[in-house]
Amino acid sequence: MMSDDAGLRNRGRERSDVDERRNAIERMTGAKLDHISSYSFDPVSAGKNIENMIGAVQVPLGFAGPVKVNGEHAKGEFMIPLATTEGALVASVSRGMSVITSSGGANVKVFKDAMTRAPVFSVRGIDHASDVILWIGKNEKRIKDAVNGTTSHGKLVDIEPFPNGRSLFLRFSYDTGDAMGMNMVTIATEAVCRLIEKETGAVLVSASGNMCTDKKPAWINAIEGRGKSVIAEAVIPADIVKNKLHASVDSIIDVNTRKNLIGSSLAGSMGNNAHAANMAAALYIATGQDPAQVVEASLTMTTCESADGDLYISVRMPAVEVGTVGGGTRLPSQSEALNIMGCLGTGKAKKLAELVAVTVLAGELSTLGAQAAGHLGKAHKELGR
Ligand code: NAP
Repeated sequence: MMSDDAGLRNRGRERSDVDERRNAIERMTGAKLDHISSYSFDPVSAGKNIENMIGAVQVPLGFAGPVKVNGEHAKGEFMIPLATTEGALVASVSRGMSVITSSGGANVKVFKDAMTRAPVFSVRGIDHASDVILWIGKNEKRIKDAVNGTTSHGKLVDIEPFPNGRSLFLRFSYDTGDAMGMNMVTIATEAVCRLIEKETGAVLVSASGNMCTDKKPAWINAIEGRGKSVIAEAVIPADIVKNKLHASVDSIIDVNTRKNLIGSSLAGSMGNNAHAANMAAALYIATGQDPAQVVEASLTMTTCESADGDLYISVRMPAVEVGTVGGGTRLPSQSEALNIMGCLGTGKAKKLAELVAVTVLAGELSTLGAQAAGHLGKAHKELGR
């Protein structure tokens, strides 16, 4: 039986209510919404994902691959679903994957897994801030009990304090299992905040004090990580670079150094990469991830160097915020896209994070190769216009 809460949420999500709302928009604006009205899923299944639903927007979906992956969680050959409107993107990523696969595949590892939420408290001054920090250190069990009262899957890993005058920021880190975890950690952190307020007299100003940092470019995520911190690498033999990318190892290293390292530094860019956000966005949209968290994916650092004359390439992605349960992953087409990679449900989030990094690696490799060979504009002209 449906609970009262679920009943309330689902009220207005029957297809007839969606139609009524869309018809009203058509009448008010004069816009014809014939395509927005055409979708296959039951609006009730989107109950936790959208308000005022009027239909669905369709984004073309392609696949890149196969790509050989030698990860800890993703092992074997994978087809990667990519949803995009940018012509040439899927072809380019596929080319990178073909090069990686011919070279023996990509190695990939999740180095850290910690979703964060950082509330800010008002304190009386630095002595009070220090007292609150001491109280936290002495009350680990009570704090963990408060967390465990809100979630059965989330586990508190750390609370890092950042005092600043009469503000105290506490950056909470959690293992969120297979969920991306933002709702989970927000609810858990709020429970701890209530305890801290009651026991220390610190006053909660915001459950999110922006040191988390969610959906904004931030060095704290680039340095400390957020969600899954993943590194993917591959070694591409010089003859494969020449035959498949029509460039030399040295020219790709040169493009990477001048563009991704020097150019990005001169521009003050926080991402040292060619277009990591492109691959992350297409994969996030296809699989029901929160697309605003592409901001964090764009913090990628791409490195290229010579490995005895062959090309060593890696991407460091400090903040891959993805899940294989909850959020948009429960929507039917997004679930199907996760299934293409065997990444739906329990025990799959780290596997998905590894595949995100390998897909970004393939896109970086292909674009650097195209720029080293002087082909970038040509591919876009032929495929994208
Ligand atoms: P969610 O759909 O709100 O919750 C997922 C829940 O699934 C978990 O809390 C957990 O319940 C349960 N679960 C079942 N099996 C699990 C498993 N194997 N591993 C982990 N959890 C499992 O998803 P969420 O990931 O916490 O949040 C994602 C959503 O947050 C997205 O829709 C995103 O757009 C949104 N978002 C929210 C904020 C915010 O500030 N609140 C910010 C950005 C994005 P238990 O906790 O009961 O164990």
